[in-house]
Parts: sequence; structure tokens; C-alpha cells
Amino acid sequence: MTVQLPIYMDNHATTPLDPRVLQAMMPYLTNVFGNAASRNHSFGWAAEEAVSQAREEVRLLVGAASTKEIVFTSGATESNNLAIKGVAHQYREKGNHLVTAKTEHKAVLDTMKRLEREGFEVTYLDVDPQGLVTPEQVEAALRPGTLLVSLMLANNEIGTIQPIAEIGAVCRKRGVLLHTDAVQAVGRMAVSVEDLNVDLLSLSGHKIYGPKGVGALYVRRTPGPKKGPRVRLTPEMDGGGHEQGMRSGTLNVPGIVGLGEAARLARLEWQKDAAHAFALRERLRKKLYDALDMVHLNGADDPRRLPGNLNVSFSFVEGEAMMMGIKDVAVSSGSACTSASLEPSYVLRALGVDSELAHSSIRFGLGRFNTEEEVDHVADIVIREVRRLRDMSPLYDLHKEGIDYKSIQWQAH
Ligand SMILES: *Cc1c(COP(=O)(O)O)cnc(C)c1O
Repeated sequence: MTVQLPIYMDNHATTPLDPRVLQAMMPYLTNVFGNAASRNHSFGWAAEEAVSQAREEVRLLVGAASTKEIVFTSGATESNNLAIKGVAHQYREKGNHLVTAKTEHKAVLDTMKRLEREGFEVTYLDVDPQGLVTPEQVEAALRPGTLLVSLMLANNEIGTIQPIAEIGAVCRKRGVLLHTDAVQAVGRMAVSVEDLNVDLLSLSGHKIYGPKGVGALYVRRTPGPKKGPRVRLTPEMDGGGHEQGMRSGTLNVPGIVGLGEAARLARLEWQKDAAHAFALRERLRKKLYDALDMVHLNGADDPRRLPGNLNVSFSFVEGEAMMMGIKDVAVSSGSACTSASLEPSYVLRALGVDSELAHSSIRFGLGRFNTEEEVDHVADIVIREVRRLRDMSPLYDLHKEGIDYKSIQWQAH
């Protein structure tokens, strides 16, 4: 049995393009090159037809009532910006308060920071040690003048799944709009804008085995069975008035076709993908736990955790050294890397994980194309490396002798 190196196990950062998606895109990268806005000839019609089909696939994936509620963007960063700034600017005369959480993606947090500089007020909710926000917390944060709550459905670092449906019920009761960044959730769990009570939802092509540089924003317009509001957004981009006037710019036809095919496959195969990712994650977790002591799980327990997410910290192991030792395995570390600073992951810090353990954390993201052989190989490499680094650690020696190293008064020389 041989596995091919390097092994990709970082499916929260991006996913490989599914070959079926590439196949669907190929004609639109070659001879079907029309502009979807060209109404006067067959080149334009062909492009427009392909875009409509893709829009229908995205609609079906998230359970939207109408294709008019799907706005194509350049990715979830833009979707998050458009949702949050679009609402804030549109409803400015109604209030100036927004609510989010400390563990959100930077595309949400940095958008909020910019709005604060424009005079909006933002509440950043704390999370519990599993990364969860409660509906009660959200309710307590709402006040007259709250325009929007933005909370992710599933976290990209720790895989924690927020109780968005319950939070949505609170928001709806209080007449506040709810946006969810569902980038990590779609294709990995059931996602329906009706069941979740959300008014805006972001998703991205390259996190569901589609191409990079394309995403979508769901914007509620048709009152659903539960009577959601019609949401209006101030566009961020001015131009030809594409996408119901919410996002001007010539449509990325091949990208949109790819997103549509990725959405179709996600809708038909997400349960199979989720079961596969879960089985691999549990196989990996068991191997690591059986072989090593002092392994700590970061994030929530099932079922409030994404099936393919394993985020663990190894006591007495330095994250950067660990990453060097497992070069043939593509994973992420909660250490430094993200910000070119020495600060460990802000998500892990928000959970209350101490700085040392945050630095020693590794995020494994199992996906559609990972195999059992890869998991076994990765487990062997990680176990070997943790043991090697601990063998060099005087603190681990003390720990094995039963001495609590944190209580030692070190002598200065
Ligand atoms: C990747 C990611 C984004 C950004 O999506 P892009 O399409 O790469 O801009 C936003 N939110 C979450 C949770 C993500 O994982």
C-alpha cells in the first residue's frame, strides 16, 4: 500500500476541484465564451442559460424560494461584505447597531471593524469553551436600533456548529435581520434558509469542490412559509446593475457554471461526503488518542461539530516545530502563521485555550477525496513527530515524573 505525498488534509482552507466540476466548466472556458448580459445573440443566450441553470442549483442547495434571491459574487469574502455593509448602509436611518461573535471569519470581523470606523456600534459576543453562542446571549444583545446579527453556521477552525435556527427565531421575533456565513456548512450538513430562519447566507465555490473566485449570497425577498422579511441591500459596486442591482460586473460565467455543478453535487452527495469525512476523522482521532497522552480536542463535541473537522492540541509540543516535522502533510496550525505575528489563533483564544496549547494545535480537515490509507499514514507521521518532540522536552520529562512544571519556581542565573 502506497500513498502519494504530499497528502492534502486542509479541506477547510480550500478543496480540490472535483473533476466533474472541471468538465462542466470546460465549454465556458473555451468556445462558449459569451457575455451573459448580451441579449442580442446566441453567444449571450448560451451564457445566460448556463448562468440560470447554475442559479437554480444554488437555489436548490440552500432551499431558497426563488432564483432572484441568489446573487453571484467573487467569493464568500465579498458575500459577507455585501451582506453586512449592504444592510448597514441600507437601513442606516433605522439604527446603527450590529451583533457578531469573536470567533467569526476575518471577512466578517474586519467588515464590522470598518463599519465601526463609520460610526456603527458592534457587539462582539463571547463564546463558551466549545465555541458556542446561545440564543439567550443574542437576545440579550439586541436593542432598539439593532439592524443585523451575523453569526457563522460552522466555524472554519474548530468546526463548531452554531444553533442558528434558534438564534434566527429570536431575531425574527425581534424584527432583526440574520446573516450567516455558511461557507463551511454547505455540502457538509443540511442547510436550508427556511429551517435556519436566516435572511442572508454566504457560500463559496472553492470550499465545496468548485472553483476559486466565485461565491454567492442568498438575499431573502420572497416571504417564506415562516414569513421572513424582504431584504434590501445597498450595493458595494456600481455599474451595469447586474444581479438585481446588488452586484454590478460582468458575470464570471465559467466560475458560476462551476459553482452550479459543485452545488448540484453537494446537494446530491452531501450525506455521503459527511459520512465519509466523519469516518475518516474518527479513524484519525482514535489513532492519535490511542497512541498519545495529553491530546486535547478544541471545539465542540458531535453533533455540534463538522464531520470532517479535527482540531487538537498536543501538550509539550511546539506547533511550528511540529509543522516542520510533518511537511508531507498539508494541515493548518493554530500557531503564528495566519497573521505573520506570534499571536496564536484568535478563535482558540476566544475559547479560553491557553496560549501554549493554542500554539500546539493542529487542524485536520478531512474531505471528499481523502482515503483511509492517507489517514493511517498521517496518523503514523503525527504520532512519530509528537513523540520525537516530547522526547526532547525537559518539561515532558517532569510531567512524566508527576511534577507540575507550572508550579516550579525557576532559578534565574
Ligand atoms: C474561506 C472562508 C471565507 C472566505 O471565502 P472566500 O470565497 O475564500 O472569499 C469566509 N468564511 C469562512 C468561514 C471561510 O471558511
